[in-house]
Amino acid sequence: MREPFRISNGVVSEKESIVIELHSNGHVGYGEASPMSGSFYSSETPETTWDALANDLIPDLLSHTVRNPVEYAEFLNDYAKEPFARAGIEGAVWDLHAMKLGTTIRELFGAPLAPIPSGLAVGIYDIIDELLDRIGIYLAYGYQRVKIKIMPGWDLAPLEAVRKCFGNIPLMADANAAYNLAQHGDLLRSLDRFGLMMIEQPLAATALGDLAELARSMTTPICVDESADSMEALEEIIRLGAASIINIKIQRVGGLWNATRMLTRAREAGIACWLGTMPELGIASAQGLAIASLPGFVYPTDIEASERWFTDDIISPSLAITSGGTIVIPEEGFKVDQQKLERYTTRTETFNT
Ligand SMILES: [Mg+2]
Repeated sequence: MREPFRISNGVVSEKESIVIELHSNGHVGYGEASPMSGSFYSSETPETTWDALANDLIPDLLSHTVRNPVEYAEFLNDYAKEPFARAGIEGAVWDLHAMKLGTTIRELFGAPLAPIPSGLAVGIYDIIDELLDRIGIYLAYGYQRVKIKIMPGWDLAPLEAVRKCFGNIPLMADANAAYNLAQHGDLLRSLDRFGLMMIEQPLAATALGDLAELARSMTTPICVDESADSMEALEEIIRLGAASIINIKIQRVGGLWNATRMLTRAREAGIACWLGTMPELGIASAQGLAIASLPGFVYPTDIEASERWFTDDIISPSLAITSGGTIVIPEEGFKVDQQKLERYTTRTETFNT
């Protein structure tokens, strides 16, 4: 990674990702399972994801007849655990299916070919000047909004400074579940004065009742990320009024099919969505962009240019941001760069039927 990515509960400085390459009758499909290293964002790590793929999901896939990706996605949901592993292998199945039909994942989901509005996300820094410096550098590329990470002790001062330095830019804050209502309710409510687009996951993932209570007492919309990890969780969020915005992460919800089902359900319930990222490398990012133009995704995606986070990427062309703050998808989609894939591979395992 170009710089370590620090959030309220941990830091990551090297990107580990598992690429699934699926061969069938001369066609190849790619998927990417992209949990964060360390277990601070979720309990899944690259190691647990690898094991789930190698021991369960890949042998299961190879011993079944898969007629279409939707049927396979529903089958995968029986597995329930390891959403990152499921997202990776399901992505490969969608890609292989698209290749066989001579089409793209975007077209399979009926998503229009449109430039995708992109937002800048920045982590937590030691000093505020460093934060302002980073925002200044990357905002100049054209990103359509800025998201900063907050945690107790790093909230009021950085938000104050960003507002002072950059004025009324579209701004939001992501706490990655760092606060609790009993202790921090007043502080969180005081964030209303910054006129944020939303505050993302202020409380623990399972604290849906508290999120609903907080939402009722703030003017700033509450967005959930970690809380929205399944269709069942989404139903509970809707029932309680725990959030008015949802960050849908394909990796966290176990794949493209679940993500689009949740998007549809959220739309029905009047909840606005946007597409999040871990961040992922190009394969999973491109699959995210493939559905990001679907109706219901109303805020800019967290998917940024490849070079924002990574010194290199494994797709061609790499993701780039336009001066208007969008990512443009090539009509024929993005291709995996085989040479780069080989260069960065540290471990391989092959499975046959
Ligand atoms: Mg988040």
